[in-house]
Amino acid sequence: MQVDLNTVDWKTLPFGYYDTDYNVRCYYRNGQWGKIEVTSSKDISIHMAATCLHYGQEGFEGLKAYTGKDGKVRIFRVEENAKRIQNTANRVLMAVPPVELFREMVHTVVKANKRFVPPYGYGATLYIRPLLIGMSPEVGVKPSDEYLLLMFVTPVGPYFKDGFKPVDMMISRNYDRAAPQGTGTVKVGGNYAASLLSLAEAKKLGYSSTIYLDAKEKKYIDECGPANFFGIKGKTFVTPKSESILPSITNKSLQQLAEHLGYKVERRQVPFEELAEFSETAECGTAAVITPIKKIVDPVAGKEFTYGDGVNPGPVCTELFTKYTAIQFGEAPDPFGWTEVVDL
Ligand SMILES: *Cc1c(COP(=O)(O)O)cnc(C)c1O
Repeated sequence: MQVDLNTVDWKTLPFGYYDTDYNVRCYYRNGQWGKIEVTSSKDISIHMAATCLHYGQEGFEGLKAYTGKDGKVRIFRVEENAKRIQNTANRVLMAVPPVELFREMVHTVVKANKRFVPPYGYGATLYIRPLLIGMSPEVGVKPSDEYLLLMFVTPVGPYFKDGFKPVDMMISRNYDRAAPQGTGTVKVGGNYAASLLSLAEAKKLGYSSTIYLDAKEKKYIDECGPANFFGIKGKTFVTPKSESILPSITNKSLQQLAEHLGYKVERRQVPFEELAEFSETAECGTAAVITPIKKIVDPVAGKEFTYGDGVNPGPVCTELFTKYTAIQFGEAPDPFGWTEVVDL
């Protein structure tokens, strides 16, 4: 189903899948990447023994295109997403797409679907989903010879429908998402499959999402299912350093912004008990930028940590969120060179 562009309410549009006009594809065959293909087909033809289906030879990305105050459409740090999918490809032995191919495909898919890029003023964006999969049939455990890099887009509304609101989180004590030296540092679908049960159980108990501790010692904060974690202590931005978390581009950029605004940034192990010492805590990722947290519950240890007045986001999260999104929507200068304009 497509959104009806005449009647759509951009403000309440969910973060879900809607059809657009085109998607772009590039195949890796006989040791090289082919030409970029633009297609309106939503289906892919895939061999039933393809390695992506059986052995999880798969990686993906997520980024957005934003209509700015000046009407120009910008994409955010596309090179970082390109480098990250290269790391993912290297980790699960897939063909590595060149940064320039990745960038060209992102520009092409946005341009081809320009009528679906939400207008300025609603917080809505065009979400871009690149996907890299192993295509050739194998029964033995070995990497594919052929790969498909595909990108589709879908318009999404603002993450916070009724304003920027804090959520409750649960520590995941019964399940790990990723192991040290495993695949936690790369963006593979298997990590998400591993997190679904934990997330479903947390949601059933009324929590928005889970926070994982390090799988080895269960002493340090790792990250939240699909988002990184940070805490604020005075004028310091603290975020976990670990061998099993995904390097979030939002987190990296927030660290740069925080430093620019005079905060000190610490990337280090964050012991679980330190949750009691933060004035604010939050999740961060492309979808929401910052999701402030008002309560973290550890059902096993019987502990509860609360932040702020239980209703409103804290002042630091608010400042970072406001300044960060102002750069994305072209409302403020971009001193970091994070954005690039799509030539529509
Ligand atoms: C994608 C992802 C994030 C967020 O990364 P961004 O680049 O900020 O969108 C965080 N954690 C995990 C596990 C992820 O897959």
